[in-house]
Amino acid sequence: MTDAVVIGAGPAGLMAAEQLAKAGVSVTVADAMPSVGRKFLMAGKSGLNITKVEPSAAFLAAYGKELPAALAHALDDFGPDQVIAWAEGLGQTVFTGSTGRVFPTVMKASPLLRAWLARLQERGVRIETRWRWEGWQGDALRFETPGGTVAIAPKATVLATGGASWARLGSNGAWAAHLQDQAAPFAPANMGFVVDWSPHMAPHFGTPVKSVALTAGGQKTRGEFIISARGIEGGGIYMLSKAMRDGAPLTVDLLPDWPEDKVRAALQKPRGKTSLSNQLRKVLRFSPVQTALLMECGRPLPGDLAAVIKALPIAHQGPRPMDEAISTAGGVRFDALNNDLMLQSHPGVFCAGEMLDWEAPTGGYLITGCLATGRIAGLAAATYCLG
Ligand SMILES: Cc1cc2nc3c(=O)[nH]c(=O)nc-3n(C[C@H](O)[C@H](O)[C@H](O)COP(=O)(O)OP(=O)(O)OC[C@H]3O[C@@H](n4cnc5c(N)ncnc54)[C@H](O)[C@@H]3O)c2cc1C
Repeated sequence: MTDAVVIGAGPAGLMAAEQLAKAGVSVTVADAMPSVGRKFLMAGKSGLNITKVEPSAAFLAAYGKELPAALAHALDDFGPDQVIAWAEGLGQTVFTGSTGRVFPTVMKASPLLRAWLARLQERGVRIETRWRWEGWQGDALRFETPGGTVAIAPKATVLATGGASWARLGSNGAWAAHLQDQAAPFAPANMGFVVDWSPHMAPHFGTPVKSVALTAGGQKTRGEFIISARGIEGGGIYMLSKAMRDGAPLTVDLLPDWPEDKVRAALQKPRGKTSLSNQLRKVLRFSPVQTALLMECGRPLPGDLAAVIKALPIAHQGPRPMDEAISTAGGVRFDALNNDLMLQSHPGVFCAGEMLDWEAPTGGYLITGCLATGRIAGLAAATYCLG
């Protein structure tokens, strides 16, 4: 007999299950996939960025100008300090990089997940894999399982079924069909953009463009991005992807530490028979990929190159497909929830994690948001069960 069911075994669902178990509620976690936490493990492949240490106002601002009250409340109670304590409590030392990003020392997610699952098991949490939630049958949750259809009517339910990208890891967004009136349409977030490169760019596919400043929609960020066969991707682009998705043009400052006058003065040195690319290499220390990008996107090259080097427009053809995005915007709207993340339309059903309608850049904000909302939903579900 289980009093609470958590659907989805990503960071949000596991955090909710832990709160329920700690409160003494018997809890079952159901996940559609053959194993748990697949996206969380994937996030650890390139270094699991669990949170970001920065002033509280800047941290909260990353979640958007109009922070829903329930999300603000969740992040106030469980922010960067608590995420670090949580990881350390699972036996993982962490380090903070120069930009404030926090990672487990081992960089990977697997040791953290293993320790977490062991702790959940000690607390009596049951985990059912290959259980796909298919909506409600009257008051009961309906699952398709290897043993056939299972219907369960728990006292409380936490939905933590993720966003709608990387479907092969489990988060396919199909749950939205059961919550149609409560969910905003999905959109890709933290994604790459399509650029129709000329053949000249082919030698640079896979190359990072380092130490540049990127601007879109009044937002500016320092960082790097990667030229791929399909377009542009990587951290610098993800930071601006919301503004770019909403139509803002992208410009890149190829020499952010040089004032425009200094660039202009350097380029005024007579170049004699030296080719332009050699001059760019010699006087501006341009890498081959910087030169290629300037030639590709700056054409027709103006007489005065300084201005275009400081604000090179990169034309794109829109976002890459949603399934490739790091995360998704859209999902269960906050006006469909109360402050404890309970669905107004379904008393006793709480929602958490990326399935909620918020978005944030990469940088640890996503996992922090999932843990924070998972915690609030789990605590509220426990109170609901015990009340
Ligand atoms: C390549 C990559 C790198 C990333 N790196 C970082 C990073 O460094 N830092 C960071 O903060 N974030 C990162 N993220 C994002 C982060 O992994 C996600 O935001 C986070 O995992 C979302 O957690 P969640 O618990 O809400 O959902 P998920 O982790 O997506 O888990 C949802 C679970 O629900 C299950 N499910 C879905 N539908 C059903 C159903 N109908 N029935 C039963 N189960 C269902 C799924 O199988 C899945 O296990 C990265 C993402 C990717 C793809």
